[in-house]
Amino acid sequence: MIAMQGVNKWFGDFQVLTDINLTVRAGEKIVLCGPSGSGKSTLIRCINHLEPYQKGQIIVDGTRLVENAGVIDAIRREVGMVFQQFNLFPHLTVLENCVLAPMRSRGVSRAQAEATARRLLDRVKILNQAGKFPAQLSGGQQQRVAIARALCMEPKVMLFDEPTSALDPEMVKEVLDTMVGLAEDGMTMICVTHEMGFARQVADRVIFMASGAIVEEGPPQEFFRNPSHERTRKFLGEIL
Ligand code: ATP
Ligand code: MG
Repeated sequence: MIAMQGVNKWFGDFQVLTDINLTVRAGEKIVLCGPSGSGKSTLIRCINHLEPYQKGQIIVDGTRLVENAGVIDAIRREVGMVFQQFNLFPHLTVLENCVLAPMRSRGVSRAQAEATARRLLDRVKILNQAGKFPAQLSGGQQQRVAIARALCMEPKVMLFDEPTSALDPEMVKEVLDTMVGLAEDGMTMICVTHEMGFARQVADRVIFMASGAIVEEGPPQEFFRNPSHERTRKFLGEIL
């Protein structure tokens, strides 16, 4: 579903990603972790071209990501993204947040977009808030709207960038439960998160990054029980 091959990226002189090789099969769930500044956000942002990369290649669902507006749009339609800070449109209601992109970039009718939005808002248990504005919701509710909004595009892959780290502790679970449900439904997911309980529960592979490179990866049982690199052990010692 996603192949990153020899991907390198620089911000000016600073190399932020070094020789990233990562293949994600359809239905696979990846948890990406690592210290602050290690390049996790940059890596996943390259997949839907929120960041350009300079060397290597990225293939999403058979399409090679090149600097072409049509190609970038096509890939973004298949790749949903959820951010730490929700990024909902503050001036639109929950329902309008959800129907905007499908109507504009998939050409879906309003009636159909609303029907899909209601179904997905119901799935994230927030349909009763459909007429509210984002500021009228709790952080956990806003994040569930953000997940529903991404799902309204019917993506093939979902990217999560620390979706629970801006939330109060009591709201973390409701968002993680939503993500677990999505995983159980078979969604292909790459999740940047330090929620290691979530990683143990749903990840097929946990990937540890440091200084812009993938240091090690493995199924959660092995990764947590017997990390092979000193940097991984140190990191896990700090967060667990
Ligand atoms: P965190 O856990 O804090 O979110 P991260 O692993 O997601 O960290 P990135 O945000 O990908 O890390 O940043 C990786 C490195 O690239 C950091 O050193 C950061 O300062 C640098 N960086 C990120 N964005 C830019 C930018 N737009 N211009 C220059 N440097 C940047
Ligand atoms: Mg980040």
